Amino acid sequence: MREGREDVSPTTEDPVELANRKPDPYRHILVALDFTPHSSHALARALELVRLHDSKLSLIHAVENSFYPDLGYDPLMIDPGEFAELDQQIHDQAVLRMEQLAKSLDYADVQHDVLWGTPKSAVLSYAEAQKVDLIVVGSHGRHGIAKLLGSTAVAIVHSARCDVFVVRLAE
Ligand code: AMP
Repeated sequence: MREGREDVSPTTEDPVELANRKPDPYRHILVALDFTPHSSHALARALELVRLHDSKLSLIHAVENSFYPDLGYDPLMIDPGEFAELDQQIHDQAVLRMEQLAKSLDYADVQHDVLWGTPKSAVLSYAEAQKVDLIVVGSHGRHGIAKLLGSTAVAIVHSARCDVFVVRLAE
């Protein structure tokens, strides 16, 4: 499987010729998963594409460190070590979930990772480092559907340097 995309800058400005060109297939598709039904729906859409393009598939989930105040500021607060332990447990559970999910998929070329950080930074830095050429993200996640697009989808669409496929909620 080839890595990364070639330079696709058009050498013609003829709109008909441009529209009729066969674009390069996607070689590496990344799905951002928050383990909600919405992101599973996005994964189902991504699977259609990876099969069509015979791409490598990467699944990632981001776990953020809890914010905790300084003990000196508020000595009645829980020990920060307990937050760190809790974060690690959440991370470990996510690793297990991810392994199970990846194994259950009817597709061989899958890699998966659970990364520390915000979903936006984890997705964008992974995509850059791994030469991802399509990011698939759900339009909404845990943060509700009050807005037209969830904050992660907006941040990724704004900053990604590759194509982004935003999958709407399953009806
Ligand atoms: P949200 O910004 O919570 O509305 O989520 C929108 C989409 O961003 C979800 O459907 C996922 O595709 C992705 N996403 C949200 N949180 C995470 C996370 N912790 N790790 C990976 N992807 C995420």
